[in-house]
Amino acid sequence: MPNDSKYWIVTDLDGTLMDENYDISPAKKTLSLLADLSIPVIPCTSKTASEVRYFRQENGLFDPYIVENGAAVYGISNNDSSEWELILGKSYLELKIILSNLSNEVGYRLIPLNDLSNEEIFDLTGLSNNEIIRALDRHWSVPFLNPPDEIFDKLITLCNNYNVHIFKGNRMSHLLSNLSHKGEAVNKLKLYLNKEDVNIIALGDSQNDLPLLEYADISIVIPGRNGPNKYLQSGIDNGLFRLANAPHAKGWSNSIEEILKNI
Ligand SMILES: [Mg+2]
Repeated sequence: MPNDSKYWIVTDLDGTLMDENYDISPAKKTLSLLADLSIPVIPCTSKTASEVRYFRQENGLFDPYIVENGAAVYGISNNDSSEWELILGKSYLELKIILSNLSNEVGYRLIPLNDLSNEEIFDLTGLSNNEIIRALDRHWSVPFLNPPDEIFDKLITLCNNYNVHIFKGNRMSHLLSNLSHKGEAVNKLKLYLNKEDVNIIALGDSQNDLPLLEYADISIVIPGRNGPNKYLQSGIDNGLFRLANAPHAKGWSNSIEEILKNI
């Protein structure tokens, strides 16, 4: 549970804190430094609550977490250790019907991740067995295979008719209610915890992080091995976002340690 820290680190996981092999080891030292300083580290990811619960346990994180691209927020109550939940989005079932309507309108079959076989999911994500069970435990967003760019652009223009939006991640796209995104989820969490004055230090690598980076007080873009995501470039060019000096966990650590020196 966040304490009285004046700062929250709100971080994407895939491609940001983790590389393509889900490795965060170059950031471990910085994570324990943040724990020593009692600065909360709040995961903010397209992953499911099941996946993030497991991740937190593995990495000794205890702070609230934002899942399914901002469609839901979870945390542990100080009083009785029960888990609380804030929902911002539409249900999986409702979104799946919308995805199928959008497929018909663009004339291209959009395939939900949850409809793939375990072998296909392994080929796409490298996940297996229990990891797949956790990844498919979705409630408030529908991930689907990335369509070609021209279909993606058409989809974006149709979304308004359904009150949804679509974010493109590295491995797949995500359909969710237009009332939910990563920035709005952080805002909801601040209000819920009565921490409206806290400063948000955000880190992300993809288009789905744009609402988070635009919302944050200090915004850091983590590049991939071939440089930053094209959707984040204009924020870097106009000086709103800082660009980390290395990909993934290494760039994450360098950026956080640089900020810690100054606060
Ligand atoms: Mg990412």
